[in-house]
Amino acid sequence: PLTGVVTIIVFGASGDLAKKKTFPALFGLYRNGFLPEGTHVIGYSRSKMDLQEFRTRISGYIKAPIAEIKEQLSKFLEICTYISGQYDDDDSYRALNKSIEEVESLSNLEVRNRVFYMALPPSVFVPVASGIKNFVYSTRGENRLIVEKPFGKDLDSSRELGKALEPLWKEEETYRIDHYLGKEMVKNLLIIRFANVFFGAIWNRQSISNVQITFKETFGTEGRGGYFDEFGIIRDVMQNREYAVLHKLPDKCVLTRSHSLDLLQILSIVAMERPVSLSAEDVRDEKVRVLRCIPPVKLDDVLLGQYTKSEDEDGVKPGYLDDSTVPPDSNCPTYAAATLFINNDRWEGVPFILKCGKALNEQKTEVRVQFQDVPGNVFKNAPRNELVIRVQPGEAVYMKMTNKLPGLSMETVISELDLTYHRRFSDFKIPDAYEALILDVLKGDHSNFVRNDELDAAWKIFTPILHQIDQEKIKPAPYPYGSRGPAGIEDFVSRYGFKRSTKEYKWADPSQY
Ligand code: NAP
Ligand code: NAP
Repeated sequence: PLTGVVTIIVFGASGDLAKKKTFPALFGLYRNGFLPEGTHVIGYSRSKMDLQEFRTRISGYIKAPIAEIKEQLSKFLEICTYISGQYDDDDSYRALNKSIEEVESLSNLEVRNRVFYMALPPSVFVPVASGIKNFVYSTRGENRLIVEKPFGKDLDSSRELGKALEPLWKEEETYRIDHYLGKEMVKNLLIIRFANVFFGAIWNRQSISNVQITFKETFGTEGRGGYFDEFGIIRDVMQNREYAVLHKLPDKCVLTRSHSLDLLQILSIVAMERPVSLSAEDVRDEKVRVLRCIPPVKLDDVLLGQYTKSEDEDGVKPGYLDDSTVPPDSNCPTYAAATLFINNDRWEGVPFILKCGKALNEQKTEVRVQFQDVPGNVFKNAPRNELVIRVQPGEAVYMKMTNKLPGLSMETVISELDLTYHRRFSDFKIPDAYEALILDVLKGDHSNFVRNDELDAAWKIFTPILHQIDQEKIKPAPYPYGSRGPAGIEDFVSRYGFKRSTKEYKWADPSQY
């Protein structure tokens, strides 16, 4: 952990991420006493804003209904100040450094640590990282740099970015955020797998038939332009509406770039070997090792979709191409499924199916591990066991298992072993991913951040197929807004061995009884 005084400098403080995630997370940490005594937060960006305007802006997403929180919020805002400056101007950085020194001098502590949070578009990562290094770097304490996704758009651009940052910032000073790694259930994966002897024993190709990792959203682009790439880099316009609309950015993207990498992060934890210890480097070594066993995805193992208008009678939702900010002939997929294989002794032949999409029937992020058929004659055609780890919403872990239907027959029924978080741990608050991640940075714990070689290994898996999709202008299959995805999805998953039980499964939510 950092000892001494800490100053957190948020670059791009006028932006969407800062307002929605960074400052609410910093407030969460402040409120729970996790920001070291004497911490100051300085917002920095080009926009001219007075202090009042800035404080109003950054508290816009902080819900403070209770009087006690209101009081804490006003105390928190007192430690937040704002400076306007350019990203490529030495004098601006000198002025920033001076302001930081002023707040640092309020403390008697000798050690002066600085945490730099880049809530900025990637196009300015390099100039800002170099401006900080040259003019704002603390010589009297530690420096930590938090970088947001996207880390490039393919292997080459990711390496280029890495190369530009490498001489400036050491790997141990750099924290690359993939917010999925901050999510409670993703962190839990490690414990589920390695702290339970019964899972340890069956976590392999002998027992597991296939794994699905799924991210589904219920909304489309809703006139906001969908996804776009600025300087060739994919960004999610949904989270950045004003900017996209303002700049009338065209859509020319492959939706799945950013999501595929998120899902790949989850995959690496599901599939990695037991790390030597829980130290960040040991865990990340194993994640890289398993990623390196995955050959690049082939076009045959991919299914792409694009949503069309909904098929409801009333209140028809528009299709993707009806969005006025999308080029009329866009072939941008809004749904993608991709199957990966891991060539090692634990997983050879087991398909890992990654699925993600917009404008679908439900919202969820989950890992679904489907086990093999029950061998032998006695219970032929028994439904397969499935272990489901629901990342969001409604964190849960459940195992679908076959039971005797209560009564006089030997009929079977699918039921579940169910751990629903909000019921089992009702006294606990699940921290927001950004809160957990910023706290990790303060503690100097790299476990939940993406290492440079991990990024490289991940991009190697996806880059060839992304280029092929772009170059060959692969046409996505249409699917109606609000459906489960393109019609081919059932055949696609069954091709890789997924069997949906013909027996009906109805979850009996205990909170309803
Ligand atoms: P943003 O609002 O577009 O940008 C943040 C700030 O950067 C803007 O307020 C603007 O501030 C400055 N900026 C914007 N475009 C610029 C340009 N072309 N050149 C120089 N400065 C520019 O972006 P964001 O949504 O906050 O996202 C920041 C980073 O986090 C991005 O890398 C994004 O991909 C990533 N991210 C965002 C989210 C999210 O929820 N928004 C989620 C995950 C990852 P000034 O003009 O005042 O300087
Ligand atoms: P499910 O929603 O029925 O989905 C099971 C699998 O079948 C998924 O791979 C899904 O694909 C696919 N699928 C869904 N509908 C289909 C259809 N009409 N045709 C073909 N394939 C289809 O999930 P479940 O695990 O069986 O659970 C049923 C419900 O109970 C869910 O809503 C679940 O959240 C709930 N439940 C909750 C808890 C809890 O919170 N503790 C515990 C147990 C069950 P896609 O992923 O592509 O949609």
